[in-house]
Amino acid sequence: MDRSWIRNSKPGDREYDAGVRQFINFAVKNSEGREKLPCPCHKCHNLLHKRVDEILNHLTKFAFDNTYTCWIWHGEKMDETHVGKPKNSVFEEENRTCYV
Ligand SMILES: [Zn+2]
Repeated sequence: MDRSWIRNSKPGDREYDAGVRQFINFAVKNSEGREKLPCPCHKCHNLLHKRVDEILNHLTKFAFDNTYTCWIWHGEKMDETHVGKPKNSVFEEENRTCYV
């Protein structure tokens, strides 16, 4: 799954919008019915919990937190020490692997 949009694009870019949609789908799928989820925008940094429509609104106005490439607050796990590749890894960069 390509997440370069988190670092390389900004609100208003087509790539960014597509990425945000991908994120929202992922978050909703893993929300287990919770009404409010951590908001990964530049201002909330996953510290504040918002409804999905509010998150979408924030991500349209504010940039996505560009350090948040492993979506650990939205159903992913991160393993920085894993030597082999987890079978279901969804995102990798140098020494970091995310998987669901
Ligand atoms: Zn926010």
